[in-house]
Amino acid sequence: MSNSKAEPYGLYFHIPFCLRKCSYCDYYSLIKLDKIDEFVNSLTKEVESRKIEENHLVKTIYIGGGTPSLLSYEHFSKIFEVINQNYKIDPEAEVSVELNPENVSEEYIKQISKFVNRYSLGVQSFDDLSLLFLGRVHNADMAKKAVEIIQNQASENINIDLIYGLPSTSRDVWKANLDKFFQLNIPHLSAYSLSIEEKTKLWADIRHKKIPPLKEENSLEDYNLLIEMMKERNYHHYEISNFAKDGFFSQHNSSYWKGRKYLGFGPSAHSYDGNIRRWNLSSITLYMKAIENNTCYFDYENLSERDKLNEYIMTSLRTFWGINLQEVKGKWGEYLARKLLVNLNKISPENIINSEQNWTLTQQGMMISDDIISDLFFID
Ligand code: SF4
Repeated sequence: MSNSKAEPYGLYFHIPFCLRKCSYCDYYSLIKLDKIDEFVNSLTKEVESRKIEENHLVKTIYIGGGTPSLLSYEHFSKIFEVINQNYKIDPEAEVSVELNPENVSEEYIKQISKFVNRYSLGVQSFDDLSLLFLGRVHNADMAKKAVEIIQNQASENINIDLIYGLPSTSRDVWKANLDKFFQLNIPHLSAYSLSIEEKTKLWADIRHKKIPPLKEENSLEDYNLLIEMMKERNYHHYEISNFAKDGFFSQHNSSYWKGRKYLGFGPSAHSYDGNIRRWNLSSITLYMKAIENNTCYFDYENLSERDKLNEYIMTSLRTFWGINLQEVKGKWGEYLARKLLVNLNKISPENIINSEQNWTLTQQGMMISDDIISDLFFID
């Protein structure tokens, strides 16, 4: 067994502020921005109060949200100062930030490029009508310009998020989105199917019959087109929703999928140390109050070996690395590895491929991944 003390860590920072609420989003975020300074103070206090043993190297840092690009250069400076004071950061660490196109300017990118080396842009669509439907602040032109500014001022290491399966758009619009993505020469794409979450504006609009309900076939056809077009352009489909060129896989997200350890800071952020999963209070006000008063701001659960195996099944089957039965045997023993093999063999070969010890989903299997994964879970 490797020395667990030397295992690398990832750090995640949750910045829970947004300019306005998008029509599909049910994430907890505040649209009142006057608390940002106070919030950054609480965040830095949380970093100072949580230590890991010194020989753990931090290999990835991810600033997500919400909208982290609402932070100023001074906020970034403060956060990274406290990170560097309290953790040993690998000089080669991947440091990602999520940005919204409306916040991207040459000056801002030059400033934050002192801290980050990977940029994830919430584009969602290059079609103005779709952006209006999704309630985004930016338009297609702003999205395109934001990509070009980052490429010219900072780095080619860019991801964009796109959303498919919109009720109002034709397949041609989705194809045009992907064509624009290729034209801009972006090495990483995260593509998500639109889903309707309770209490969002879209959910209310569907209930009040202002817009038609989503059609699953629409989303599946968009997804198939996506996979085909990404394959033609030699992107690796390395996770159900993620595609990358060689050398541009997200190290941070890959570490989640590989069950590595991470610390999450900020409201609702999760942490995992190999045994315990813990999560911070999701209310910004309660989180800041608890940090100020030095009281508990998180909850946690001890994961059983069965929980860990189920998580392994769920995350690894979503990736192109798949389930490795040798790994299962090494971590959870021969009996469970054999049981899992029996259940894997029950899945239709149209949905899963077995190559030596690795089991991965086929394109068809990815369409019904949730059902396949839940059927494989071990239940007490
Ligand atoms: S989708 Fe992103 S920008 Fe829009 S409200 Fe949600 S977190 Fe904020």
